[in-house]
This record gives sequence, structure tokens and C-alpha cells, in this order.
Amino acid sequence: METRIERIKKQLHSSSYKLTPQREATVRVLLEHEEDHLSAEDVYLLVKEKSPEIGLATVYRTLELLTELKIVDKINFGDGVSRYDLRQEGAAHFHHHLVCIECGAVDEIQEDLLEEVEAVVERRWNFKIKDHRLTFHGICYRCQDKEKDEETSE
Ligand SMILES: [Zn+2]
Ligand SMILES: [Zn+2]
Repeated sequence: METRIERIKKQLHSSSYKLTPQREATVRVLLEHEEDHLSAEDVYLLVKEKSPEIGLATVYRTLELLTELKIVDKINFGDGVSRYDLRQEGAAHFHHHLVCIECGAVDEIQEDLLEEVEAVVERRWNFKIKDHRLTFHGICYRCQDKEKDEETSE
């Protein structure tokens, strides 16, 4: 945790920004909830628990700054809510998401798996790919297990 904060601090410094206490509080919440895909409001409520003096506008500006510096990615799973996702350190590409249409769970795939697809796109459309976003919509293994249990108990 501390080393990651140090590294984020350096990333901010190299773009002439400081890791102010307000920004640090926001970064800590993102690190503590790395798998959670929080909205700005979620982040704000968690920041407020520890630092009640920090306002929503400050949290919002920090999230926008972190997005601009590519420390976090802003994503939308189709429900109209922007969510913030820490970028994996050293990741060349943004990870993929599995969104469950039954329980709303969001799981991640860190493996890229898209090299062949990208090669085809680059060749056929003469497009230089820098990144991608991929969201799969379906039924997670937990919901599938639940369905199976219900079937066998009937
Ligand atoms: Zn994610
Ligand atoms: Zn599910």
C-alpha cells in the first residue's frame, strides 16, 4: 500500500502535481477498494468516513486528475454511472470486465487475450491500437451455481 502510494506520488510529481492530503485520502480509498469499481459518490462517502472535511467537489476533481494522468480509468458498464478503476501497475492494456446481468457483480480478467484480434484490426483497418475496453455481459459462476442448487432442490 505505502509503496504504491509513493509511486502514485511520483507520477503526480512528474506532471507537477502534489499529493495533497485530500488527494492522498482519495487514492487510499481507491487502493483499499481496488476490486470494487466505485462511483465518484461511493469514493466520496468512503473518504468522508475518515476525513469529513473533504467535499464531493474535491474528490471529484481528484478523480478527474487521476484519470487524466492515467492512474485510474473511468469506465461505464451501461448503467449511466461513471466508475473509477485503478490501473494495474505496468499494465500495457486495460483489463477486461465480466459484468453479471443477474447480481451485478463485476469480475476482472487481467490477461490480455486480444493479441490476435488486435493484429487483425490493425491490418485490416490500418488502425494503430493503443488500448481497448472490453466488457462481457452474462451470468457469473456464483449465479450459475445458485441456479443449479435451486434446480436440484426442486
Ligand atoms: Zn476493473
Ligand atoms: Zn451473478
